[in-house]
Amino acid sequence: MQTTDLPNIIAATSHIINQNEGEVAALDQAIGDGDHVVNLQRGLAALTAQSVAISELNWKQALQKIGMTLMSTMGGASGSLYGTLFISMAKAMPDDSKELSLVTLAAAFSQGIEAMKKRGKSNIGEKTMLDTLIPVANTLNQTPPSLPLSETLEKVMVAAIAGMESTQEMLATKGRASFLGERSRGHIDAGARSSQLMICAIVEHLS
Ligand code: ADP
Ligand code: MG
Repeated sequence: MQTTDLPNIIAATSHIINQNEGEVAALDQAIGDGDHVVNLQRGLAALTAQSVAISELNWKQALQKIGMTLMSTMGGASGSLYGTLFISMAKAMPDDSKELSLVTLAAAFSQGIEAMKKRGKSNIGEKTMLDTLIPVANTLNQTPPSLPLSETLEKVMVAAIAGMESTQEMLATKGRASFLGERSRGHIDAGARSSQLMICAIVEHLS
């Protein structure tokens, strides 16, 4: 994959979030403050505005720019966490990386997830977007490089959907939903759903 693919990937993620805007808003209204989809759309709009500039960078620079843009435009807990994800992924990239392999992506993504866990003081099982993203990172790392790309991508989608669904019955212990205690159960986490939608849109774009 090359950074010239990024404008299409940014467009695909924006499209899926806009298509599911009502659902994601309702999920954050149920156990949060309702702004998650708007935060995300603000970040994605900023990335769309910069997508040509981003496509002209190498991977290290592009991921850094994506992270800084999300950090400064999105807002909310999710903005600082997504910013952290991409800035940490950039740090994991070799200096002049033009082509991104699945192995390099998997390693960088894992490093980014570890940084998110530290930033959010959170982990899997706490009813957040990490319940989608950690299983995706694990799948990317555990899938043998010899497996055809289409099968790896299919496994990633399955992991993202199962992770998102797993948040339904969880008790929230991080973020605004944790203020509700036991009443947080029975709702899917908005960040888990939006990250699953974006992962699936990226996978479909790559397939
Ligand atoms: P805010 O909670 O500040 O209003 P958003 O509504 O944009 O921010 O994002 C909420 C989402 O962020 C939650 O649904 C959850 O997935 C994620 N989130 C919140 N706090 C944390 C945390 N400490 N660690 C991981 N994810 C978190
Ligand atoms: Mg919110």
